[in-house]
Amino acid sequence: MAFEGLAERLQGTMQRIKGKGKVTEADVKEMMREVRFALIEADVNLKVVKEFVKKVSERAVGTDVMKSLTPGQQVIKIVKDELTDLMGGEESPLQFAKKPPTVIMMVGLQGAGKTTTSGKLANVLRKKYNRKPLLVAADIYRPAAIQQLETIGKQLSLPVFSMGTDVSPVEIVRQALEKSKEDLNDVIIIDTAGRLHVDEDLMQELKDIRTIKEPDEVFLVVDSMTGQDAVNVAQQFNETVGITGVVLTKLDGDTRGGAALSIRSVAEKPIKFVGMGEKMDALEPFHPERMASRILG
Ligand code: GDP
Repeated sequence: MAFEGLAERLQGTMQRIKGKGKVTEADVKEMMREVRFALIEADVNLKVVKEFVKKVSERAVGTDVMKSLTPGQQVIKIVKDELTDLMGGEESPLQFAKKPPTVIMMVGLQGAGKTTTSGKLANVLRKKYNRKPLLVAADIYRPAAIQQLETIGKQLSLPVFSMGTDVSPVEIVRQALEKSKEDLNDVIIIDTAGRLHVDEDLMQELKDIRTIKEPDEVFLVVDSMTGQDAVNVAQQFNETVGITGVVLTKLDGDTRGGAALSIRSVAEKPIKFVGMGEKMDALEPFHPERMASRILG
C-alpha cells in the first residue's frame, strides 16, 4: 500500500504525543526528530523536509499550544495542517476554456502512464463534467502509442483523432481542433510523445504544439514510484515547457510517498489527479487534506 512506512512511523510518533497533558519544547524536538526521519525515509526532498520541520516546530512550541488543555492534540493538528499545505492545501479544480474547445495537453516521460491517463481523464470529463471529449494521438514516434490510444477510445466509446506517424504533431493538433469544431467536441486531450529522458527535441515539440492554441491545462504525468526522479522531471518540465498541474500515477502501488509530498513545493505546481490503478475509472481528484488524514490515520 502507498505511504505504508510513512503512515506507520508518523502514526506511532503522533500516538506518543497525543495523550500528553503537558508538552515541553523537548517533547516537540523529540517528535520532530522522528518526523524528520520518517519523511526522509519516505524519500521526501531534503529541502522540503527541513522547511516542514521548521514550520511545524515553530508553531508547535508557540505558547498557545503549550498552554492549551490538549497540547498533544494541538500539535497533531499542526502536523496535519502543514502536511495538507505541503501537498497544496486546497483541491485544485480543472480549468476550462471560456470558449470551447478546452485544450488539455498531456506530457511526460515514456511509461509514466500518459496514454492511460489521457483515457481516464476523458472518461472523468464525460462522466463527471458532462463534456464531449476528443482524444488526440500526437505521439508520432511510436505507432504502438497511437494504437494504444485507439484501443482505449474503443473501450470507452470515445472518439480518437489520429493521422498516423507521417504528419507533424503541430499539424495533427491543428486538424484535431478543426475536427472538434465539426463534431462539437468541447474538450480535446492531446496525448503527446513521451521520451526516455527529458531532451531538447521533446521540449521543443511541446512548445511548438502550444503555439497552435494555448492549452487550458498542461498536465505532466509522472510515476509516483520513481520518487525524487518524478520531482526532478516535474521541475524540468515546468521550467522549460510550463505545466499547470501534475497527475501522479500508480498510487495504488507501494510508493513511499516522496513524490506526492515534494512535488508541490519543488515544482510549484499542484497535483490535480492521482492514478489508482490500470482501469479506466481509476483516476481521482487529489485532495491534500484527505491524503494528509490518510497518512496520519
Ligand atoms: P505512457 O508511456 O506514459 O503513455 O504510459 P502508459 O499509459 O502506456 O502506461 C504504462 C503502464 O502503466 C501501463 O501498463 C499502464 O496500465 C500502467 N499504469 C498507468 N497508470 C497506472 C496507475 O495509476 N496504476 C497502475 N497500477 N498502473 C498504471
